[in-house]
Amino acid sequence: MRGGVTLYDSHCHLQDPAFDLDRDDLYRSAAQAGIALIIPGYSLASSDAAVALAHRYRGAAAAVGVHPHEALEALTNDAGPRLTTLLSDPKVVAVGEIGLDYYRDLAPREVQREAFRRQLRWARAAGLPVSVHSRDAEQDTLGILEEVGHLRGVLHCFSGSDRFLDALLDFGFYISVAGPVTFRNGEQLREQVKRMPAERILVETDAPYMAPHPHRGHKNRPEWVVYTAEMVADVRGEDRKKVFACLVSNTKRLFWRLERGE
Ligand SMILES: [Zn+2]
Repeated sequence: MRGGVTLYDSHCHLQDPAFDLDRDDLYRSAAQAGIALIIPGYSLASSDAAVALAHRYRGAAAAVGVHPHEALEALTNDAGPRLTTLLSDPKVVAVGEIGLDYYRDLAPREVQREAFRRQLRWARAAGLPVSVHSRDAEQDTLGILEEVGHLRGVLHCFSGSDRFLDALLDFGFYISVAGPVTFRNGEQLREQVKRMPAERILVETDAPYMAPHPHRGHKNRPEWVVYTAEMVADVRGEDRKKVFACLVSNTKRLFWRLERGE
């Protein structure tokens, strides 16, 4: 990316059908703003699509994995061979997004747990970090991370209790902050951001979802990650430029393949 990376949008679903009409435009305006992208899958097909975009867009990378909503797919005979083949691609920097969602419960919980375990093991075998989704499932998320013992990763779009945050930080996990930190009702998250260690914070949009203030309610876009990053700097009372540089180096440290896959 010309002029270097200003920020990473560490989690955006640019392969989502919501972007079928404006994907290239969004990529271009993000690139002009110095925003580099990590595009996670949420199913086998969307993981293939994420890898294809990572090859098409300079400065983009992919993560591959099956979201808890689609957990059944991770238990099919296809899933292991397809995902582990994708993991050898230099543009793939992580396994994700994977995890547990007991809020929407779109797959049976036992299936979600087994899908999470298996994908953690594939990540560990590949030596890659994970991008974890966890909603209303703090205890089981911690339990499975500990059980598998693969503790290199990020909790994406963090929203949770102080206890959950502290346990993740104890594991050595990174914490990704998304648009809700800018919301009027984001006070708890802002308080948590103040006490996160600077070297463990990432930022993301989770586009097309979760657009930050002042665009709340609209289809999100990667360049808007800047609102979240500015809020992180401001609530911590730190210099924005320094915080942005720290966020970039955190992202590269966690997703170590970024440096090699450019
Ligand atoms: Zn996501």
